[in-house]
Amino acid sequence: MEIKKIGNRGTLFTFYDLGIPTNIYVINAKRYVYILDTYLGPDIMQQINEYIFSEYGNKQIIVVNSHGHWDHIWGNSLYSNNIIIAHVLCKEYIQQNGQNQLVKYREEYAKGNVVLTYPNLLFTDTLQFEEDNILMFYSPGHTEDQISVIDYEDKVLFSGDNLERPIPYLMTTNLDQYAKTLGDYINLDVDIVIGGHTECEDKKLIQDNLNYVKKVIDKDAAEFENGEYEDYHLANMKWLEEHNR
Ligand SMILES: [Zn+2]
Repeated sequence: MEIKKIGNRGTLFTFYDLGIPTNIYVINAKRYVYILDTYLGPDIMQQINEYIFSEYGNKQIIVVNSHGHWDHIWGNSLYSNNIIIAHVLCKEYIQQNGQNQLVKYREEYAKGNVVLTYPNLLFTDTLQFEEDNILMFYSPGHTEDQISVIDYEDKVLFSGDNLERPIPYLMTTNLDQYAKTLGDYINLDVDIVIGGHTECEDKKLIQDNLNYVKKVIDKDAAEFENGEYEDYHLANMKWLEEHNR
């Protein structure tokens, strides 16, 4: 577990069990402590809770799921008594796919006894924690259920898997929607950008990801068939071919 302090009140926890970095972002706001994404299970989240307790004391915790993919929600197990926020489509996604994914990946990846735990506070457009200067908003892209979180105090955007390095891993056929979301990100009043599997980044990553998605839309992405992008890009092309039929 890598721990990095961000701004005045953020902490980025990064893990490598999946072979790529995967993030949990914690914001110690005025009223609540927010945990963005819960990774692979309760054993990891217990460590996060201990960290929060030692740094911030017995403050109330609010959990957020950026989207329903298994590598971002299994730690919900530990928070059945907390508020767990997500988009309405996120809960639907977990209801439809969560059990299958748990059976498929549990043995290899679960950290502790994962009990599928659904988000329990759902929204559709935006959700604002006024006193804490925190905004959550619907941002479909990587998936249909994706939300993003802005900490206005530290000017941080947590994008979930909408932003990836070096290029997005496409899991949607609605690329116009994805490009719109990324275009909207550019106009946000933020300086620091963190994705579900990225480093601590800045707006350049948004621009790079947007350029890529636009080029795929325009069928002008041959430049990505070589070099560091090759494997990701070819996997994306294969996925789109299989799902666009
Ligand atoms: Zn994902």
